Amino acid sequence: MRALQRIAAVLCLLVVSACATAPPRNPLADWHASPNHEPRRARMIVIHHTAMRSAEGALLVLQTRNSGGRVSAHYLIGEDGRRYQLVAEQERAWHAGSSRWAGMDDINSISIGIELDNDGNEPFSDAQIESLLVLLADLTDRLGIQPHLVVGHGDVAPTKKDDPSVHFPWQRVAQAGYGLWPRELRAPVPAGFDAWAALRLVGYDLRDPEAALAAFHRHFRGREDREWLEGDAELLYDLQLQLMELPSASGT
Ligand SMILES: [Zn+2]
Repeated sequence: MRALQRIAAVLCLLVVSACATAPPRNPLADWHASPNHEPRRARMIVIHHTAMRSAEGALLVLQTRNSGGRVSAHYLIGEDGRRYQLVAEQERAWHAGSSRWAGMDDINSISIGIELDNDGNEPFSDAQIESLLVLLADLTDRLGIQPHLVVGHGDVAPTKKDDPSVHFPWQRVAQAGYGLWPRELRAPVPAGFDAWAALRLVGYDLRDPEAALAAFHRHFRGREDREWLEGDAELLYDLQLQLMELPSASGT
């Protein structure tokens, strides 16, 4: 009898330790495991500049903490083009903060964050941009991210952030196939065109319209005006047409 009790106790312990290592499951439902799954994948890429003087300094901040709280990114690219990875791609890095794009909140949960070593006031080096393009090719191909969904931190958090700065070469990056850029020859803007609706369609959060305009201008016009500029309607109409021409996302 005592032997049976001991066996029961050992079995209990085994069950408890097995439970301790099992993934959390909702007790409200019966668990019927399916092998048909994979880690969640990112759906967009957010570019940042570090606003620091060196990649070494940025690495330290991204691995520890700073005065504003803990931050991280999946990748950091040095001025010399060297790439560092800090967080696995299927994990949620803390780079975008409070953010919204195309109606989606919590951009951290659906994005890969790439920090560029840059103090915010200087041009981005050729080596760094070339290195970024290699990484963008790899990420969009391997993770199935739609290439036009490469945006800046300032785009997804227009009231709080302004990185990457006006020095970031969005046109060059778009010519390589990543992010949107207006075409040379644009169709005439039809009567009744709604520029605000187009700005929202591109992805901008319009809760603070002036901040959204500044972010749009930083990205597409290399300046940060907070009111409409001549030529904006033509540019936005072309971006809207490009978005409407895109194949829809697919994948199981
Ligand atoms: Zn940022």
